[in-house]
Amino acid sequence: MRLLLVEDDAMIGEAVLQVLRAEHYAVDWVRDGVMADAALKTEAYDLVLLDLGLPRRDGLDVLRALRARRASVPVLIATARDAVGDRIAGLDAGADDYVVKPYDIDELLARIRALLRRSAGRGEPVFEHKGVRLNPATREATLQGQPVLLSAREWAVLEALLVRPGAVLSRAQLEEKLFSWKDDISSNAVEVYIHGVRKKLGNELIQTVRGLGYVVPKE
Ligand code: CA
Repeated sequence: MRLLLVEDDAMIGEAVLQVLRAEHYAVDWVRDGVMADAALKTEAYDLVLLDLGLPRRDGLDVLRALRARRASVPVLIATARDAVGDRIAGLDAGADDYVVKPYDIDELLARIRALLRRSAGRGEPVFEHKGVRLNPATREATLQGQPVLLSAREWAVLEALLVRPGAVLSRAQLEEKLFSWKDDISSNAVEVYIHGVRKKLGNELIQTVRGLGYVVPKE
């Protein structure tokens, strides 16, 4: 999953970035509203964590512009604890949820998981498909009840495909979900991770669609 972190406070931004990366999200971090707007116009994010008080362009303004383009990416706004008015304005401008600062990190992560779930049209918190089970909250994967250890990127590639069984994702689309701007991408990276998933969870789970990409077939 690819996230955009919009935060102008260097210390908070660095801390949140580390936490999100530790949770295996691919994260791009921008520090002002103009950069946020540019990133949102060029990349396909799965979720945006948006601070409202930003230099150069206000967070609310960035959010309104995003929704005016009819972009449906989930947006989680961050506001000060006593800023009820900001939260209301943010929600009415198209935010999906809010978190208060200073962050409770566990709550932040749970809200991110909930929004990602909802935006994929899912209610159930755990992925289950043909004997494979992925729990995003605990990062546990099992095959027929037996624990399987997936690397961060093996997990990410499988999760991206499990969100919509039957939908084909191209290599470029998978790269977009797996890597942030800072990552070096080797040309066969996606193939390597898919190979890893197949070795651990069986060849049938992820199928190659020649010339198009990869799919987890519907049950
Ligand atoms: Ca700020």
